[in-house]
Amino acid sequence: MHRRTFLKGLALTGGCAACSSLARASGNIPWNYAGDRGPEKWGDLNSTFRTCSLGAQQSPINITGAIRAQIEPLKLDWKVTAAEIVNNGHTIQLDLPPASTLTHNGRDYSLVQFHFHAPSEHQIDGRAFPMEIHFVHKHAETGDLAVLGVLVSTEGGEPNIPLSQLSAIFPRKNGQKGKLEKADVSKLLPPSLEYYTYEGSLTTPPCSEIVTWFVLKTPLIADPRAVKRFTALYKGNARPVVPTNRRLILESS
Ligand SMILES: [Zn+2]
Repeated sequence: MHRRTFLKGLALTGGCAACSSLARASGNIPWNYAGDRGPEKWGDLNSTFRTCSLGAQQSPINITGAIRAQIEPLKLDWKVTAAEIVNNGHTIQLDLPPASTLTHNGRDYSLVQFHFHAPSEHQIDGRAFPMEIHFVHKHAETGDLAVLGVLVSTEGGEPNIPLSQLSAIFPRKNGQKGKLEKADVSKLLPPSLEYYTYEGSLTTPPCSEIVTWFVLKTPLIADPRAVKRFTALYKGNARPVVPTNRRLILESS
């Protein structure tokens, strides 16, 4: 596959040498993945973060004991669009204009951004993966989210070339941004869209319980060098799994 079939054009700008994170620059509460602002402390950092410690429907979880169910196939309509790539101090994120959708229970959610975690946040039967991609879809009226989680493995098949190409242009500096003329996000999906689904939360503060999660059963296969390009920037940007409590996990079949 030729580079231009996945992404086209890149101009990096910015860089935020003076600030430790964009979150701080924008006046939000600083948080982190370790130490006194790590996941166990998120709920205490600010009153708006309390759900992180008090919520009973938090994410991520260890996906186990899923119930096979006749649930609708995942309905994705993802277009080739422009994109903005940013190193935001917590991850590498691609912001997208509204064009692509996920449809669930007759409701359309618009793909607004996707970003990366290493290692994976979700586990399957206790197993974590080297990386996880979160494709965040938002319902225009309610603000509810439908997040598609794609686990990334470095074993078991041919590596995904678009992911390698994308990893080569990750902005290295905190706050650095780039504009892409075209990104074909659908090229970052594994061949099967069979999924697990459950009701959960954002995995970062404020941990709002507004997310219907769809985690694909089939991982995307990555070149280990693509994973290394991410972990060279962010290693350990994953919230530990939290109790499932009484939630049902359904599995497409
Ligand atoms: Zn995420």
